Amino acid sequence: GDHRDLHYPLRRQRQMCIRDSVSYLTWNKNRAEKVVRNYNNLWIVAMGSLETFKMFVNGKWVDSENGSTFESINPSIGKSWALIPEATVNDVNNAVEAAYKAFNEGEWSKITPTQRGKYLRKLGDLLAEKSEELGKIESIDTGKLLKETRWQAKYIAEYFHYYAGLADKIEGSTLPIDKPDMYAFNVREPLGVVAAIVPWNSQLFLVAVKIGPALAAGNTVVLKASEHASAAMLEFGKVIEEVGFPPGVVNIISGHGDPCGKTLTTHPLVHRISFTGGPATARHVIRNSAENFAEVSLELGGKSPFIVFEDADIESAVNGSIAGIFGASGQSCVAGSRLYLQESIADEFLDRMTSLAANIKLGDPLLDETQMGPLATLGQIKLIESEISNAKNQGAKILHGGNKPSNMNEGWFFEPTIVDCSDQKLKIVDTELFGPVLSVLRFKTEEEVIQLANDTKYGLAAGVFTKNSARSLRITKALRAGIVWVNTYRVVSPIAPFGGYKDSGYGRESGMQAIHDYTRIKTVWINTSDEPMSNPFQMR
Ligand code: NDP
Repeated sequence: GDHRDLHYPLRRQRQMCIRDSVSYLTWNKNRAEKVVRNYNNLWIVAMGSLETFKMFVNGKWVDSENGSTFESINPSIGKSWALIPEATVNDVNNAVEAAYKAFNEGEWSKITPTQRGKYLRKLGDLLAEKSEELGKIESIDTGKLLKETRWQAKYIAEYFHYYAGLADKIEGSTLPIDKPDMYAFNVREPLGVVAAIVPWNSQLFLVAVKIGPALAAGNTVVLKASEHASAAMLEFGKVIEEVGFPPGVVNIISGHGDPCGKTLTTHPLVHRISFTGGPATARHVIRNSAENFAEVSLELGGKSPFIVFEDADIESAVNGSIAGIFGASGQSCVAGSRLYLQESIADEFLDRMTSLAANIKLGDPLLDETQMGPLATLGQIKLIESEISNAKNQGAKILHGGNKPSNMNEGWFFEPTIVDCSDQKLKIVDTELFGPVLSVLRFKTEEEVIQLANDTKYGLAAGVFTKNSARSLRITKALRAGIVWVNTYRVVSPIAPFGGYKDSGYGRESGMQAIHDYTRIKTVWINTSDEPMSNPFQMR
């Protein structure tokens, strides 16, 4: 990966040294490479005292079957801090088979929905207790502020409590059937093994929105962490262990898209795939699901409009916009990355916004005074630099930022950036950058801004600031987005469904709807007549 280039000299030295020491093995190339890889990892652990993590499969802590690992980088210093197991095809198969066994014949398949709810309640309680340590691991691994990851880990408990309560409220129905002497009813049943795949941002939050409803409905789960940040999710296995879930109910594996993600999403024993990530990977996932006919839900990216009318409370709207784009350094699927300002207030709004942006304190995500951390991968910085340069060539003006901070030598930081775009057709306006970069456009009328806001391939979220309630209702109806916030931004809740339109995916997470998505209906017909069935070949 790109990050490894940074360590080239050290890695090179290390590899040369180890290669010499195992040169006697060159008669068997495969074996030699395996030994080099494993010794390499041991060396890293010894020299750099890296943290090591294990996968959680069938209730046990396991390494990859061949001992392979990959390094996880702390983006605030740009250096490796942990070794993560690299799941092989067999490791993935083991996890899916364990989940299938737990679903089909294990203790989990026999307990009542109320007992399932008790497991989830305990999970929520323990998670809230461990929010500090889990939040810290997530912050080191992703660069997200500890203030936010700690709070998120605590709030996630609410998701498990919500689904704990719903576990024994999943009801069927009787049907007013149009046949005499027939009694027909529906029951909702769990689907089986759920493959839950998450990206690197908001790992624990995304885990909760997926496994909360999946477990409440009686499914079992295999979770796959992102290669860029797996640590907090693997650590979460300790909470699963402490709750005492029966073996195989929750399995957590780590590895790359291929073979780990691919094997998981094509596995014949997987019945549902819940995917969060980018549209390109989503297309692979959909194709993979053609192998097993698994049901799929997709939570994908966005380029969400944030619309401010001249009658809005400007201070509130400026604060909302700052939070919407620079919160989590812009690495949020719902980042309000397209700002539409009504012309009469645009200059005043931008003055206020740029002076707030200029005071944002970048730094160590573990410190309380830090307001913006680094980006999680070096690849994102390269993408952002290239798109900003294109935008400038196309006539955009940088109102603030636009560069890596000159006073920060290590770590993957980028300045909060505000780009004044003369034209909606600029590429930067509809490219998800997943970083702290805001595109600003101006509008005259309500009709015009609705058209501009909907002129995008995405449709995840939108924000509207206005004091005119009739207008806010008109706009919420007209916007093609799965979530619309009025005079607020980035609010989520276990009770409120979450998901997108268009290239932002399909299916909804959170809320009662998610329970329905993790179950399927079985229809039962009962003949209530005492008469025997007639012979179908003897017409009466
Ligand atoms: P990716 O799409 O690159 O990766 C998402 C996950 O899919 C990772 O675990 C990845 O593994 C895995 N994966 C990769 N290839 C395959 C495959 N062939 N089969 C199965 N799984 C595979 O997304 P990013 O990690 O870059 O995350 C950023 C994206 O996520 C953004 O577009 C963002 O908007 C979106 N997102 C959406 C949210 C929502 O709720 N709508 C919330 C948060 C983020 P690996 O990491 O090993 O490649």
